[in-house]
Amino acid sequence: MASAAAEFPSLLKEECTFRVYPKEPGPFLYRELLDFTKRTARPEEFPGLHPGPILPDEPFIILGNIDVDKSRRPAGDLIPCAMCTPNRFLSGKFIYVPRLQCVTIIGHCCADKETLESAEDAFDAKRQRQREEDFLLNAWPVVTNKIFCVDAVRPIATEARRLHRILHRRVAHVQTYIHDLRREGGELSITIHERPRDNDNNDEDERVGPSGFKRKVERIRIERFGTLQGFTVSLANYEPDCELSSIATRLSQLRVPLGHEDIFYYVADLDDECRRKEVRFFRELDRDYSRFKKRLYDFISFFDVENIVAFNRWGTHPENPLSIHARYERPPYGVASATKRLVIGNPQGQASILVSPVLWNPMPNWEYFGFESGL
Ligand SMILES: [Zn+2]
Repeated sequence: MASAAAEFPSLLKEECTFRVYPKEPGPFLYRELLDFTKRTARPEEFPGLHPGPILPDEPFIILGNIDVDKSRRPAGDLIPCAMCTPNRFLSGKFIYVPRLQCVTIIGHCCADKETLESAEDAFDAKRQRQREEDFLLNAWPVVTNKIFCVDAVRPIATEARRLHRILHRRVAHVQTYIHDLRREGGELSITIHERPRDNDNNDEDERVGPSGFKRKVERIRIERFGTLQGFTVSLANYEPDCELSSIATRLSQLRVPLGHEDIFYYVADLDDECRRKEVRFFRELDRDYSRFKKRLYDFISFFDVENIVAFNRWGTHPENPLSIHARYERPPYGVASATKRLVIGNPQGQASILVSPVLWNPMPNWEYFGFESGL
């Protein structure tokens, strides 16, 4: 059948039919096309080609290149492209279209667009894999550092949790005032209305109206005491120890590979899904630790001496109706001198809280690598 068709190409063309190839044809067909083209300079008349048009997004496989010298084209015209237009190209591709089970010819106009896109897709996938592998090669060796970090920070988190509980139980009303301050951006300020006394007769009185009516001018003065730090203390719920436990639990699920070489082979062997899952795991861990640490730092900043002093100056100002006090006092006899005693409250109620120096323990650096720049 193949040889008969080759002998009557024009017949096939008139019937406007194409030959069916259930599978991608072997290289013999491309060689036949090359011979045919060499003889005729009209590859579009090669028997059995799909006459087109073929949809531009139809997937195809390239079987070979086609090049025809323009001087050899009988009418000096161009070869039609089965995907776009007739009279299109001199240099193109012989392709197999799996869905239509046919072969045909297209110009670089369509072939390059397709191959370029798939090449770019392949390149993107390769680059993404590289990024993920680089990230994991950095992330795995610092797992032990992360475990060390969690252990070092745990006493700080426990102390913070204890302090928060006492504040919430004993001086919840003060927590509310602090919470309200947050809405003002934490600014510790008091607006003072100064009303001159009636018998005052100074030059600052203002003359109003044509008769020179004298009016006492009320003056407003704003006294500022700085910005309050540590709004985390005013949260209704704050459980840094639980946040840390969740991180510790997830860390404990990791089987830490031994040496650098082990990590390398381990990461290289991961399939796409596992690799992606691990990247997500580490990134979530880094994100959660960063949130935990940020809040813990904020909580601790409330207990800084300067912050307590500023809060007290604001709270005890005679014009502050809340009349809050906050100060550090000497710890009771028998308690280690590094322990601080915070007395905080107002006439509604106060608390005397022992603050362990553990709260100011140094926090080791949690090592992590950004995903994009993980080189
Ligand atoms: Zn085209």
